[in-house]
Amino acid sequence: MAETIAATAAANFIDGEFAPSSSGRTYQRVNPWRPSEPVGEFPSSTAEDVSAAVAAAERAFPDWARLSAAKRCAYLAGAADAIEGRVEEIARDMTREMGKPIRESRMEAARAAAIFRYFSGEGWRALGQVYEQSGTGAAVYTRRRSLGVVGLITPWNFPAAIPTWKAAPALAYGNAVVLKLATDAPLTGLHLARAFQETGLPHGVLNVVIGSGAEVGKALVVGPRVRAISFTGSVPVGHGVREQATRAGKRVQLELGGHNPLIVCGDADPQRAVEAAYAGAFWSAGQKCTATRRIYVHEALYDRFRQLFAERIASGHVGDPADPETEVGPIVNERQLEEVLAGVQRGRSEGGTLVVGGERADPEAYLIAPTVFEDVSDEAFLSCEEVFGPVTSLYRFQTLDEAIDRANAVRFGLSASIFTGSLEAAERFVDGIEVGIVHVNSQTAGADVHVPFGGSKASGYGPHEQGRAAIEFYTEEVTVYRDV
Ligand code: NAD
Repeated sequence: MAETIAATAAANFIDGEFAPSSSGRTYQRVNPWRPSEPVGEFPSSTAEDVSAAVAAAERAFPDWARLSAAKRCAYLAGAADAIEGRVEEIARDMTREMGKPIRESRMEAARAAAIFRYFSGEGWRALGQVYEQSGTGAAVYTRRRSLGVVGLITPWNFPAAIPTWKAAPALAYGNAVVLKLATDAPLTGLHLARAFQETGLPHGVLNVVIGSGAEVGKALVVGPRVRAISFTGSVPVGHGVREQATRAGKRVQLELGGHNPLIVCGDADPQRAVEAAYAGAFWSAGQKCTATRRIYVHEALYDRFRQLFAERIASGHVGDPADPETEVGPIVNERQLEEVLAGVQRGRSEGGTLVVGGERADPEAYLIAPTVFEDVSDEAFLSCEEVFGPVTSLYRFQTLDEAIDRANAVRFGLSASIFTGSLEAAERFVDGIEVGIVHVNSQTAGADVHVPFGGSKASGYGPHEQGRAAIEFYTEEVTVYRDV
């Protein structure tokens, strides 16, 4: 089994075959827990490889779009089976290449199977609406048409779930796909290609290309034969992608960063709120778009919460991500590690006080211990910009309206959470908070597969992903007047 992965690992998947980049160029990926240990050699693909993938997708598209939705979706059910059968293997690859603790990697691999399972049901769901024409009463109805070749650009932090939640609806609704994986986590994404190859998916319907954003990503974004781009990643890159893609006349969807607040009201159960804060801020080493970056605690509870939070951090498991006990593993790569440490330094220089953490926690691994600041001003860098690591800040508040206003005072709007026993406070929060995903008495991270996922303000652009919302991006609506 291990040999099969090695044989396919270092390859793009184009027109049904695993093959190296036509340039012959490769790069090496290392394990962020033990950077002296290589994970593998992967293709540094070029615009020429993208062109071959797009051409294969164009050839495959007409027959794929003509298949009934139910027949297309049978391939998704097959992929769900294949992934379910090797959750452990995928989880181990994920942990090795990008450092996610194995218990979270297992959950994510299982979630990828659940996403394919959910979208395999789309073949049996309504694809339009029927009305009557106002003048004659004859039928007028809408139907959904696939777009053509779509380009999917994905980050490294959810290397199974994000490629899956883009590819599953794209394929179910009859599009042909070129998927660009992040260079920091290609091995996990290649399992998708492998699963579809096993289902006998027609060649060219799904293509996977590995390589840099500047070369592979850009070629997809500007390439004239790609109808739509779904992008998940950082704000600056996403905004550049939107500019170039819209200039080329494409449909664009962006899922970007977040700066997600957690509000702990005076009547909250502090222990429960602490657990949610720990998971939200530190699981996956804080490398989630929905991670908890700001924690507003009512002044009556602040000291107690601070103490319990520090105790929870002291008893937490930080270290080897392959250990099933580990809750907080390493940062994905050295550059990100340096960026997070620079963010911590900036937090200090702008007047923030460290409650715990703030330093590199291992001489070799890219490990940073859970880090908590307080006394950070609302205008400080840490209060406004995404530091993509296990770093969060505590703030005191007096009234809920004040907390909501301060929570909203950033350009991001992805997720937010409140802990309270009051239905009235929860409703005020749901009404007033400017984000796409709201949690009441649960952590800021987490996304169910069958409901919409996406941000507002600078955190997103275009229709949301997942659940039935995905049909908006991956199809166009056609209105048919049918007179007899
Ligand atoms: P990133 O923006 O650096 O890269 C994302 C993808 O874009 C990668 O595949 C990269 O190679 C590609 N890319 C880079 N330059 C490009 C270009 N010029 N043209 C086209 N593609 C290009 O982001 P990252 O570091 O991989 O991921 C972390 C970021 O993603 C964080 O900001 C996080 O908040 C965000 N994120 C958002 C969501 C969400 O759903 N909102 C989910 C996960 C991660």
